[in-house]
Amino acid sequence: MAKISRRKFVKQFIGTSSGIALLGSTAPLMSSGNSLNTYSNSLKVFIPMPVQVVIDDVGWWSGTDGSKKQEPYRTGISRNHVPADYQAIADLGKALNIKPQAAFILCEWDRDNILRKLPTSTWMGEKWDNSKWVGPWLEAAADIIRCSRDYFELTVHGIGHEYWEGGTFTRAEWTDSSGQMRPSDQVKLHLEYYNKLLNQNNLGPFPRSFVPAAFRHSFGPSEGRKVSLAELLKEHGITYINTPFSSMYNKERAQYEHFGSDAGVITVDRGNDEFPWLTFPANPMAELKGPTCGLHWPNMLHPHPEQNPEAVTRWVNYLKPYNEKPDMMLAPNSVDFQNQLAHHTLTRINQETQPIELDFTETDKLPGSVGKEELTLKILSDKPLQFRSESIEIKKQSLLEGNEFLYVLNLKRKAHQLKALISFKE
Ligand SMILES: [Zn+2]
Repeated sequence: MAKISRRKFVKQFIGTSSGIALLGSTAPLMSSGNSLNTYSNSLKVFIPMPVQVVIDDVGWWSGTDGSKKQEPYRTGISRNHVPADYQAIADLGKALNIKPQAAFILCEWDRDNILRKLPTSTWMGEKWDNSKWVGPWLEAAADIIRCSRDYFELTVHGIGHEYWEGGTFTRAEWTDSSGQMRPSDQVKLHLEYYNKLLNQNNLGPFPRSFVPAAFRHSFGPSEGRKVSLAELLKEHGITYINTPFSSMYNKERAQYEHFGSDAGVITVDRGNDEFPWLTFPANPMAELKGPTCGLHWPNMLHPHPEQNPEAVTRWVNYLKPYNEKPDMMLAPNSVDFQNQLAHHTLTRINQETQPIELDFTETDKLPGSVGKEELTLKILSDKPLQFRSESIEIKKQSLLEGNEFLYVLNLKRKAHQLKALISFKE
């Protein structure tokens, strides 16, 4: 299927007066989350683009970049990591009422040296010894994670981040630098051991989300492999991958501008991070253009852990305004994120007059449950309004603080309804 970019869409249709006819007759992959049908002066309806926060390389205790001595890059900071660094992620989540994804590396959480049996996963191979990093900080950090379930999502990133053979590593753990997935039996073992490490530390059930280490990834099967990495991840319950499409192999297979479905696993384009992984701390400013706010752990931490809140506050102040924009929103969690992104991309707003009409025909062609449940609508009006509907459940309608008459409607679809009509009155 062809991709139609937002820019192309704008170029093609802006300035026309018959928005309804155009939207009704154009290609099915049209993105409709914008509000280009400007025939109605009093109302603008948006299916806002969700933004998900994804933080890479969480989980290390050593901050040392070991790449020159065949150890992992880790986070490359000038100090070790401490439980307060985990608290910083939960604090970010709590301040914004979101669940940031912590893309987690687990080798330095190995309490029993089980990774000796998986020599490709660490720099010490069969002589793996993690005793240096076994201490009370493990339980302190695990406790922060367990107590912050609403504000912290553990995402699979890797065990040792790279892939070791004969004492040297190549990038990266799941896929090599020419885009070929590691042998299936190794991928399966790495996932099994990831699960064992989670269990050792009581870090909860196996995650539903994945960020490929070093962003080495192929969409669909890579050369010489029968199955894709997504398919193997799916066997462990993973439903969603986040990675930059710019470095993804076979990216042309992704069906839409911001995401694709690989063996039913939603794969979202991370876009380009504002900062390199070593920026410590960062001062975010660049406008987000895509659905992911990607960063690395040091970007939101401080050289003095007790000052982490200062670094976190910068990110909170940077991200908060996206909730106040009519055409964007912060995703509350990664599941809502996938649903909203599907609607933003595929659900059509056929009318912005009375009643507002939403069409889910294209959205429902996605596999699985994505797009079948909840979505958020934002409606900009020049007068106060009340909304009601028989064909979709309005779970909540609220007026966005600080903006006059910018309504946020939290909707839940009714089964078997391909269209929803929402009427409004003053
Ligand atoms: Zn990484």
